[in-house]
Amino acid sequence: MSDIPKRDRMKMERTPSRTADPEVRSRSFDEVNVGYTSALAVLEASRCLNCKRPVCIEGCPVGVRIDEFVALVADGRFTEAASVVHHDNPLPAVCGRVCPQETQCEEACVLNKKGRPIAIGALERFVADRELDEMAAAPRPRPEPTGKSVAVVGSGPAGLACAGDLNAMGHQVTVFEALHELGGVLAYGIPAFRLPKPVVKAEIDRLGELGVRFERDVLVGVSPTVEELRRDEGFDAVFVGTGAGLPRFPGIEGENLIGVYSANEFLTRVNLMHANEPGARTPVYDLVDRSVVVIGGGNTAVDAARTALRLGARSVRVLYRRSKAEMPARAEEIEHAEEEGIALVFQVSPVRFDGTDGWLNGVTIQHMTLGPPDEEGRARPIPIEGRTEDIACEVAIVAIGNQPNPILANTTPGLTTSDWGTIEVDPSSGATSIPGVFAGGDIATGGATVILALGAGRRAAAAIDSWLAEGHPQQKAHARGTGS
Ligand code: FAD
Ligand code: SF4
Repeated sequence: MSDIPKRDRMKMERTPSRTADPEVRSRSFDEVNVGYTSALAVLEASRCLNCKRPVCIEGCPVGVRIDEFVALVADGRFTEAASVVHHDNPLPAVCGRVCPQETQCEEACVLNKKGRPIAIGALERFVADRELDEMAAAPRPRPEPTGKSVAVVGSGPAGLACAGDLNAMGHQVTVFEALHELGGVLAYGIPAFRLPKPVVKAEIDRLGELGVRFERDVLVGVSPTVEELRRDEGFDAVFVGTGAGLPRFPGIEGENLIGVYSANEFLTRVNLMHANEPGARTPVYDLVDRSVVVIGGGNTAVDAARTALRLGARSVRVLYRRSKAEMPARAEEIEHAEEEGIALVFQVSPVRFDGTDGWLNGVTIQHMTLGPPDEEGRARPIPIEGRTEDIACEVAIVAIGNQPNPILANTTPGLTTSDWGTIEVDPSSGATSIPGVFAGGDIATGGATVILALGAGRRAAAAIDSWLAEGHPQQKAHARGTGS
């Protein structure tokens, strides 16, 4: 714990994270935020007031014991700090980098009253990175097996968190992933300059070393179905964490023009298929010297815009229908994007993609004004009559949200879904309408955040463990009868 008098601690400035130079980084996929050195981490942690009632924890969706780990960092006890974080968060090196801390723990921190909350995310990342480095050589304790097996469908944060906890409880877990890379959005969505892929791989490898099995290139719902996993392959329970990876389009004229992408396709091609590299089998349209617009205001939009810039675009504009205050993207990413030269254009919405001979050459936008708040409390965009504008562009990337892929739900009789295609669950347990089948993460909530997916995966793991402990003789007999 810091020995600096409390009064002085309150006057200390927040320690900035080190970032790469905007000029250099805007042409590189290397990580932008370089993180703290040990000395900077200790300095930042020593600002913490060690509050009697650590309200920061109330802002954390998975209840990380923030005050405890920050005090350990202030003492230079980094390994102990990492194990405190790990107790509640199975992917801290990821969350330290991508969580929207400014609306969670850091918003709640008492020092935020003066606009200088403890940099909890940067400290979490620091201890997690240290731990990953140190643990590379450490032996892994394996839990005592229970003889029960669980199939986890999807290797995003929800599936990984569920798999990690169930494995630690001694159940044999197999994760089935449709793609050839593991990690869900962490692998195919969030670009390397924000979340380096070795960090994701290290967190997943750790689960593998602890006993979780991974099967790639398996599209559950096609072959095998959820029913077959239980009946033919003998899994005692199934967790569905298939995310919301189906892009939405605005439904306007010109969407099929060459040069119009969904952000998901664009980012997946670059992140997973290395589309930007010479000889790629699924290339993206050559962006060098092109003018690009991105439609949307969330993390996906900002990631797509910054990726386009790194692929050589001449200009990148993000078109968002509300104002900056309502942008759902992380504050740090918006700041970094602007530093890199990306233009943010507010209160506009596309009404038509324009083109010649099948190729995009512009977008017509409608200017908006902001009305009273909608049901989510955000100012409602209202079109200003007669105020449209044509913007020239050669590439348009649509990032206006995603919905669940329907394959698994359509092939699982008895699985109740909402009108939006999400799987209906009991939020406290992830239990679905089918006994023994649980779900969580974006597939249940619609597109949300990594930490909410992690929390859902962990709650479901606890519920699956209880469900398995109860025995459920009929289903077990059925599964064993046909599975052996
Ligand atoms: P996902 O991460 O989507 O993983 C689902 C996995 O299931 C995928 O790997 C998919 O291939 C697999 N799958 C799907 N169907 C099947 C099937 N039938 N059989 C087998 N496997 C299947 N959140 C943040 O907190 N911070 C951020 O900075 C942030 N940035 C983002 C940037 C982008 C570009 C995107 C798209 C999202 C971002 N998010 C961010 C949101 C966050 O990534 C998601 O909320 C989170 O990944 C959801 O986790 P999940 O496990 O539910 O699903
Ligand atoms: Fe430290 Fe802020 Fe949490 Fe208080 S609220 S314990 S100052 S991180």
